[in-house]
Amino acid sequence: MAFEGLTSRLQGVFSKLRGKGKVSEEDVNAAMREVRLALLEADVNFKVVKDFIAKVKEKSVGSEVMDSFTPGMVIIDIVNKELTELMGGSQAKLARNNRPPTVVLMAGLQGAGKTTTSAKLAKLLLKGNHRPLLVAGDIYRPAAIKQLQVLGEQINVPVFTLPEGNSPVEIARQALQHAKDHGNDYLLIDTAGRLHVDEELMEELRQIHEVTKPDEVLLVVDAMTGQDAVNVAESFNQQLELTGVILTKLDGDTRGGAALSVKAVTGCPIKFAALGEKIDALEPFHPERMASRILGMGDMLSLIEKAQAGIDADKAKEMERKMRNAEFTFDDFLEQMDQVKKLGPIDQIMDMIPGMGKMKQMKDVKVDEKQMGRVEAIVHSMTKHEKQNPDLINHNRRKRIAAGSGTTLADVNRLIKQFDEMRRMMKQFSDMMGPKGKGSKMM
Ligand code: GDP
Repeated sequence: MAFEGLTSRLQGVFSKLRGKGKVSEEDVNAAMREVRLALLEADVNFKVVKDFIAKVKEKSVGSEVMDSFTPGMVIIDIVNKELTELMGGSQAKLARNNRPPTVVLMAGLQGAGKTTTSAKLAKLLLKGNHRPLLVAGDIYRPAAIKQLQVLGEQINVPVFTLPEGNSPVEIARQALQHAKDHGNDYLLIDTAGRLHVDEELMEELRQIHEVTKPDEVLLVVDAMTGQDAVNVAESFNQQLELTGVILTKLDGDTRGGAALSVKAVTGCPIKFAALGEKIDALEPFHPERMASRILGMGDMLSLIEKAQAGIDADKAKEMERKMRNAEFTFDDFLEQMDQVKKLGPIDQIMDMIPGMGKMKQMKDVKVDEKQMGRVEAIVHSMTKHEKQNPDLINHNRRKRIAAGSGTTLADVNRLIKQFDEMRRMMKQFSDMMGPKGKGSKMM
C-alpha cells in the first residue's frame, strides 16, 4: 500500500516530539533533518523536499509553537497542513461544461493505465448519474480498442469506434458529434500511448485537441515509476497544457514520491487516484485526506463515503432491528461480511481507520481476506437450521463442519464462541437502550 515507508518513518519522528513538554529550536532542526531524509527516501523530488522543509521550519520555530503546551502536536499539524498544500490544498474537481458534452482527453504513456482508467472514470461518472461515452482512439494497438469495448460492456457504457482506416482525429471528431446527438454529457477519449514522449504522439494529441477543444486534458501516470512519472508529466505539460493528472497503481506504490511531487513540479493538480485493477478502484483525489493517511491518522471521511455508496440503507436498517431483538443469525453475519467486502480490499480499508494502518503491521493481528474466507467456509458448512440456531451445534457436528470447510475444530469452536459473545453484547446493548431503542439507561 502507498506510503508505507514514509508513514512509519514520520510516525517515528513525531512520537519523539510528541512526548516533549517543550521543544527547542535544536529539537525542531533534528526532527526536520529526519523528515527530510524520509521524504527523499520516499523518492520525493529533492527541490520539493528542500522547499517543504524550509516552510515547515519557518512555521515551527515561531514563538506560538515554542510556547504551546503541546508543541509536538502543533508541529505535526504544521506538517499536515504543508503536506496538504504540497498536493494541491483542496480537491481539484473534474470540469463540467455547461454546454455538454464535457470533453475529457486522456493522455499518457503505454502501460500507464490509460485505457483501464478511462473505463474507471466512466464508471464513476455513471454513478454520479452522468451519461458518458467512451471513445477508442488508440488505433495503433488493436487490442486497446477491444479492451475498451470489453470494459465498456462490463459497465454498460457505450464505446465509440470507427472502421479501420480512420484516423484518431476523425474518430474524435465524429465521436463528439455522436455525443451531441445522443445526449452523452461526458466524452472520454482514450488516446494512443507510446513508450516515450515523442513528437508524433504530441502532434496527434494536438490535432485531437484542436477538433474537440477539450475541457480537461488528463495525464495518466504510473505512480510506481516515482520521479519518472513526474518527468513525464512535466514534458507532457510543456507541450500540451494539462489540466490535471491521474495517478494509477497507487496500491503498489510503497514510496509515494510521485503523489507528493507532481503538483509542486508541474503545477497540475492530481484529480484522481487509482488504487487497484478492479473497475471501481478509482477515487477523487483529496489532498487533505491523503496527507492524513500519510501521517497515519487515517481517512475516515473516505471510508464513510465508501460505506454510504456501497451499503444498502434498507438492509442496514433491517440488520439493526435484528440486532436489537437479538435475532441476528449466521446468515445475517455472512451478509454483513459481504457488505464489508464491497467497500474494497480489507488492507486498504484498514489504512483509512486512524491507527489501524500501524496495527496491521503487528504480526499477531491478522485481518485478511484469507481469514474472512475461512470464516465464510465454516458458516457455509452449517445447515440452514444451524445457521439460525447456533446453540444446537454439538461437538460431533462441529467436527463435521470443520472437515466440510477445510478448517479445524478449534477454528469452528472459536467462531461459534465469538458469535455467541457478539449476540450477547448486542442483546445487552439493546436492553440498555430501552425497549424501542429510545432513551438510554446509561445516562
Ligand atoms: P494503457 O496502455 O495506458 O492503456 O494501460 P492499460 O489500461 O492497458 O493498463 C496497463 C496495466 O496496468 C493493466 O494490466 C492494468 O490492469 C494495470 N493497472 C491500471 N491501473 C492500475 C491500478 O491502479 N493498480 C494496479 N495494480 N494495476 C493497474
